[in-house]
Amino acid sequence: MIYLDHAAATPVSKKVLSSMLPFFTEEFFNPSAAYLPANQVREKFESSKSTIANFIGAKASDLIITSGATEANALAFTVVKNFERGTNLRKKDVSASVISPKVLVLETEHASVLEAAKTYPFETIKVDKTGLIDLPDLKKKLSDEVVLVSVSLANNELGTIQPLSEISQILRQERLSRLEKGITTPIFLHSDASQGLSLLDINVSRLGVDLLTLNAAKVSGPKGVGALYASHDVRLSPLYRGGGQERGLRGGTENVPGVVGFATALESLKNHSAAQRKKYTHLVENLKTELEKSKIPPVFLGNKKSRLSNFLPVCFPGLDAERIIFKLEDRGVYVSTGAACAASKGEPSHVLRAIGLSPEEIAGSLRISLGVLNNEKNISEAGRIIREVVNEEYERVYG
Ligand code: PLP
Repeated sequence: MIYLDHAAATPVSKKVLSSMLPFFTEEFFNPSAAYLPANQVREKFESSKSTIANFIGAKASDLIITSGATEANALAFTVVKNFERGTNLRKKDVSASVISPKVLVLETEHASVLEAAKTYPFETIKVDKTGLIDLPDLKKKLSDEVVLVSVSLANNELGTIQPLSEISQILRQERLSRLEKGITTPIFLHSDASQGLSLLDINVSRLGVDLLTLNAAKVSGPKGVGALYASHDVRLSPLYRGGGQERGLRGGTENVPGVVGFATALESLKNHSAAQRKKYTHLVENLKTELEKSKIPPVFLGNKKSRLSNFLPVCFPGLDAERIIFKLEDRGVYVSTGAACAASKGEPSHVLRAIGLSPEEIAGSLRISLGVLNNEKNISEAGRIIREVVNEEYERVYG
């Protein structure tokens, strides 16, 4: 098997798995119980949370552990709720409660962000042909009612990396101009960092985000584990209530093995991202060179200068990517047509539509994403197999 779909899922490393196992078996105690072994489990849970928080330059008390990125995204959007109902506001925020709050999201966001946005009056921010945010469009849409702007760190179909610090500067300006007008409505910046956590140097202060979604499943950690970073001036509402865990924001017995695994996965990444970026840049270049020898010239998508180094989104106009994928699977190569979830709905990708691809171009697009399972040898093999399958399809359609 040659696996080229690391944006969809990553294998849990042996190190991660062995760090998790004791917390399923011998150290299974509920961290909220009063006896000593349970206290030790609590300590491990808290120290793992600190490791995760430190990885993004935050404190454990700024994190809420969730069941993955979908839940973290939904929880992030509850910041809007407080302004909607005018509840939970401190006295000094009361003037902010009279507005009808609005959210802005990038049109290429993951379905979990777009669905969360739909709960409120929302508008989308445009992207250019490479998937980069259209900053003038953001500025144009920043009305006084906007309380949340959500822009992912890197897109999950194109790998395009967004200029978050520039966006946060724009929001800072907007806050200042509101203050000058005597408007106290705050404006928060949320980013879904599910993609890119393993390859980019992420620091919440440097990025200037108020809310950040993390996802263990994309960094060789366990699936179903994520976290939401929320800065101290952000107030959220729980999606559901329970035993008061996670400061009352996320009830339910803590997923200790999951959080321990997530922390181990991030520890393994520490200081390795530069080397990983270099490795993937080289492998992606090799793959591109191989694909360029196809009978039909490939069109590489995304932004050349600002793209995750392990992504290679590519379009073979006029060919049927679904057929290519099935043929590749027969030969042991796994790629996808886009986000796994969008593909399962059978709808054409909203991301590829947003960057202006025609239905025909969308139908001919593949998402190739490299990761820990790839090396020089299997990428060279994959390049040859993809080229052969593309040529066969070209002959079938045009031959
Ligand atoms: N956001 C992005 C950018 C993703 O790529 C994914 C997963 O594919 C998600 C959110 C959803 O993550 P989860 O399945 O952990 O809820």
